[in-house]
Amino acid sequence: MGTLTDWENLRAGHDCPLCWPRPEVNDTWFFIARLEVSSLYLSRENQAYRGATQLIYDGGHVTRLGELSPAEWTALSRDLYTAEKAQMKAFKPDHVNVATLGNIVPHLHWHLVPRYRDDPRWGAPIWTDHRNDTPRVTLAEAEYAELAARIRKSIDD
Ligand SMILES: [Zn+2]
Repeated sequence: MGTLTDWENLRAGHDCPLCWPRPEVNDTWFFIARLEVSSLYLSRENQAYRGATQLIYDGGHVTRLGELSPAEWTALSRDLYTAEKAQMKAFKPDHVNVATLGNIVPHLHWHLVPRYRDDPRWGAPIWTDHRNDTPRVTLAEAEYAELAARIRKSIDD
């Protein structure tokens, strides 16, 4: 867990890991698609909720929605809509949780987390107070590519 100073430095945009350009694949994500003002990635660090993605804003270092112009927000909300629809189509979950937190990395991004009636925390938020309490699943490399392709195809359809 980072310190407040670390967070303030990131908030100021110093060494922000989510600023564009960013790698297509790292320990945290697997690239799916570029949308209008953001990019969609499959979560590599946790697939306890199959198909979980992150939508990261590409238009500059921004922390909160209110820092966007109305036009930027409109474009980002279209991307969010596209991503959610594609994810629902690709995995047919029972529900989806959509959240922007920024408590660890304060660059505007969204977590789109498919929820299933038999998932580890159905009926509750996926986030827990203690990181070790969070159910975690990682996949074989080929499986990330397969899930990303499935979402990508659903965006195009
Ligand atoms: Zn940033």
